[in-house]
Amino acid sequence: MPLRRLLSKYLTPTAEFASVTDITLEFLREQGVRGLILDLDDTLVDYGRDTFSTKVRAWLESIQKDFKVCVVSNTSRQHRAQAIIEGLGIPAYARARKPRRQVLRQALVTMELNENEVMVVGDRLLTDILGGTRLGARTALIAPVSDQRRMLRLLRRLERGLLSWVAQRAHSPVSKESGS
Ligand SMILES: [Mg+2]
Repeated sequence: MPLRRLLSKYLTPTAEFASVTDITLEFLREQGVRGLILDLDDTLVDYGRDTFSTKVRAWLESIQKDFKVCVVSNTSRQHRAQAIIEGLGIPAYARARKPRRQVLRQALVTMELNENEVMVVGDRLLTDILGGTRLGARTALIAPVSDQRRMLRLLRRLERGLLSWVAQRAHSPVSKESGS
C-alpha cells in the first residue's frame, strides 16, 4: 500500500470534535457503537489537572446510561487516572502505551465488546487515533481542552507536517545529484 494511503488509513479519525462533550448520544447511536474508550489528558481533563469540569462530568454521566465507558491513558501515574474517575464507576488503565494495542484490548475485554463496537476517543493522532485504527475501532479526534498549551498544538502541527512531508518524499523520485 502506498505510504500516503497507509498514513491516511491509519491517521484519519472517523470524526472530529472541538470537545469531548460535543459527542452526542445520537451520533454514537448512528455509528452503531456500544462503548467508548476515552483518553484522559486533554480529552477529559486539561493536561495535568486532577478534576473533571462540571460539563465533562455531566456528559460522562449521560453517556454512561446507554454506553459502556473505559478510560485508557498513556499517563505514567496510575493512581492519578483512577483518582480522577473514582466515583463514576469507570474502569481506567494507565501506562497504556498507545498506539500499542495491548491495553486497548484489555479495555475491550473489560467492556465485553468487540473492536467494531467501540469508538476510541483522544486528542493525539499518533497515539489515540493510530491505536484505535490499529485496534479496528472507530475513532474520534478531540481538539485540546486547555487554552494555554500552545506547545502541544505546535507539536501536533509539526507531527502532521512531518507526516505529509514523509508521504510526499515517498512519492518523489530520489535525487541523484544531491549528497552522495
Ligand atoms: Mg491526550
